[in-house]
Amino acid sequence: MMAYEYDDQNIFAKILRGEIPNDTVLETDHTLAFNDITPQAPAHVLVIPKGPYVCYDHFALEASDTEIVDFNRSIAEVCRILGVQPGAGGGGYRMISNAGEHGVQEVPHLHVHILGGRPLGRMLQRM
Ligand code: 5GP
Repeated sequence: MMAYEYDDQNIFAKILRGEIPNDTVLETDHTLAFNDITPQAPAHVLVIPKGPYVCYDHFALEASDTEIVDFNRSIAEVCRILGVQPGAGGGGYRMISNAGEHGVQEVPHLHVHILGGRPLGRMLQRM
């Protein structure tokens, strides 16, 4: 298997180092969540681990259990903050994590998009 190479000049690495501002929704020891700069829905938050992981499978393979639990609990907490949890009267949400070329990943630092606040349509368009 090819090893992942992390580019520490990517925009989310700069956000994590405080070189670029962000509109923080939640911060924990291992995770940061902030509003997307170009929202695609009334709620559009990006959740990222603080560690240098390129995409989800990289994170799932190499992150510590502590980081993985923190990241996933942070996603739940962001859903609570946004009021989109369907189990708590919210309208629901979609989680997306794009990876690599076919996934059309623009920023090579793992991020999960949480989108909600309106009906989001079908998952994929036929091309
Ligand atoms: P991707 O296509 O990699 O899954 O999504 C990258 C996301 O990052 C896009 O939704 C884009 O709007 C967002 N983004 C890119 N640059 C910045 C930035 O400097 N700040 C914030 N908050 N979001 C950004």
